[in-house]
Amino acid sequence: MADKWDERKKAQEDEYFVKKERELLAKLKATQEAENKAAGKNVAHMTCPKCGQPLKARSFQKIEIDQCTGCNGIWLDPGEIEQVAGKENDSWLGRFWQKNG
Ligand SMILES: [Zn+2]
Repeated sequence: MADKWDERKKAQEDEYFVKKERELLAKLKATQEAENKAAGKNVAHMTCPKCGQPLKARSFQKIEIDQCTGCNGIWLDPGEIEQVAGKENDSWLGRFWQKNG
């Protein structure tokens, strides 16, 4: 009898943790989506033109850029290259951009 009770209790606990985990995941997803919305981005619809994997927004020097989760390619929106290069005067990117721009 006791064993059966323990089993049932165990099953209930498992169910509880599975439910908790689902809730946590849903919460994380909602938070991520809210952040994306706040940033004015709809990342879910953005995929890499090269490999088709989704792009993930990340910030570089406080500028929002999109990086591919598949090939790690970085995509810049219009004007962002100037911002990145402008902040990176001493870097190869800044020199490259100023030389060619
Ligand atoms: Zn890619």
